[in-house]
Amino acid sequence: MGRISGKAVLVTGGAMGMGKSHAELLAREGGHVFVTDRDVLAGKAVVARIIAAGGKAEFIAHDVTSESDWNNAIEMVRQKAGRLDVLVNNAGILILKPLHETSPEEFDRTFNVNVKGVYLGIRSAVPLMKESGNASIINISSIYGIIGAPMAGAYISSKGAVRLMTKSCAVDLAAFGIRVNSIHPGVIDTPMTNGLLYTDEATRQAVLGPTLLKRPSRPEEVSNAVLFLASDESSFVHGAEMVVDGGYTAN
Ligand code: NAP
Repeated sequence: MGRISGKAVLVTGGAMGMGKSHAELLAREGGHVFVTDRDVLAGKAVVARIIAAGGKAEFIAHDVTSESDWNNAIEMVRQKAGRLDVLVNNAGILILKPLHETSPEEFDRTFNVNVKGVYLGIRSAVPLMKESGNASIINISSIYGIIGAPMAGAYISSKGAVRLMTKSCAVDLAAFGIRVNSIHPGVIDTPMTNGLLYTDEATRQAVLGPTLLKRPSRPEEVSNAVLFLASDESSFVHGAEMVVDGGYTAN
């Protein structure tokens, strides 16, 4: 308990899946958590659960592709918390198609959420994070930001961009006391993957692929990595790519 007490945290895509799990764990560990999502009903429900459990949280309706939504979100954080110590760029979408069959509209949609959303987040949040002087940006990429796979060309390209965006920002932001790292989950059991993991056994095994632990991860197992990077326990971890994949990429 209390590993991030006193820190103000913003989690994008916090209404469900891993974002919800990150928000709940960060609040349990003492964070003042701003849960943002375009899904207002589900996002408010996450905040209500956090508050009922004794945590501190607020919901902000927020589409990560909108610059004005980002400006509004950061202004709300400034007004309510007066600081921003941790930004978790978690919102993302997956379109299952090889790149050569992906339409320009699908490609743009993927890059708008997965890449431009992260860029806008960093651009909007850094002025307030600089005031903190001890801040952490956590970008959720994927193992598919490191290796290739079938049927997700735009997604994989976007997650690769997030990996190197993280390293470039690590170079630029170190001087301001802002650490920047990426997390690379493997196969995680969330609404994003439900259709793949629970349709039939052959599809499930194909998706799990070479995962050495032979199961998908629970969202909380990734949240533990987020908590570490959000906390001062990771004070010398900067520009790193943290793989949480049950051994998928180990062989
Ligand atoms: P998820 O279950 O689909 O949840 C994603 C959340 O982000 C949803 O609440 C979604 O709202 C929200 N979102 C999507 N587009 C948004 C936008 N433009 N603005 C604001 N919110 C938006 O996904 P997840 O599996 O938890 O994934 C979270 C992150 O981990 C993503 O970046 C994903 O790429 C990454 N990841 C996932 C896996 C996996 O196996 N699940 C593995 C590696 C990496 P809507 O419902 O309205 O779309």
